[in-house]
Amino acid sequence: MNPFTLKTQSRTDFVNIDPLVAEAVREAGLTDGMVTVFIPHTTAGVTINENADPDVMADLDLVLDRMVPWNGGYSHREGNTAAHVKASMVGSSVQVIVSAGKLQLGTWQSLFFCEFDGPRTRQVWIKGTPTK
Ligand code: ZN
Repeated sequence: MNPFTLKTQSRTDFVNIDPLVAEAVREAGLTDGMVTVFIPHTTAGVTINENADPDVMADLDLVLDRMVPWNGGYSHREGNTAAHVKASMVGSSVQVIVSAGKLQLGTWQSLFFCEFDGPRTRQVWIKGTPTK
């Protein structure tokens, strides 16, 4: 499957990538299997969470900021340690079941690209594995 790029809009940005992943699955002709979404960056990640109430992702941002403030007396000279830590907290990949050509997400779930040191142009790598 072809990787895709996206542009994030601010230092922290959660981008719903369901349509992009679904399109990649459709283009690849994957009907039943697993799709892995992998983020090849050290200051961004991916997570699955609620798409209905945008306050959920806003609260996730708030909590991550409380846990890992931008200015924390860190050692890393680039100055973006908080972004590196948050990327590790959410993780670099997720897997989703594909059935009948569709992503099997719960009613309120979406895939969110998690930017922690934007705005930047980012890559998302995806790989489908058929199971029959
Ligand atoms: Zn850095």
